[in-house]
Amino acid sequence: MLLRRDPRKKAIIERALKPIEKLLREMQDDGKELTKLKFKKFQKTHFTNCTCAQCLEAKRKNDPRKRGILEDGFKVFVGEGDPNED
Ligand SMILES: [Zn+2]
Repeated sequence: MLLRRDPRKKAIIERALKPIEKLLREMQDDGKELTKLKFKKFQKTHFTNCTCAQCLEAKRKNDPRKRGILEDGFKVFVGEGDPNED
């Protein structure tokens, strides 16, 4: 059986969807074709020469996934391109 979702988490998602909906409407108004819309998770970490505490720890553990994060979220693909060939 599925665990019930935390209602606070659900409220956060619902709030987050509003600006996303607004952006998608703006894209439609700009004439973007959204029928082939795809979302892909996206993350951008600090540069390899970064010396912040998180990056140093990542280097020490030899795990680049532990590096500091600059951007975290998703990208929206509107065209024919394959979002997996980035
Ligand atoms: Zn860093």
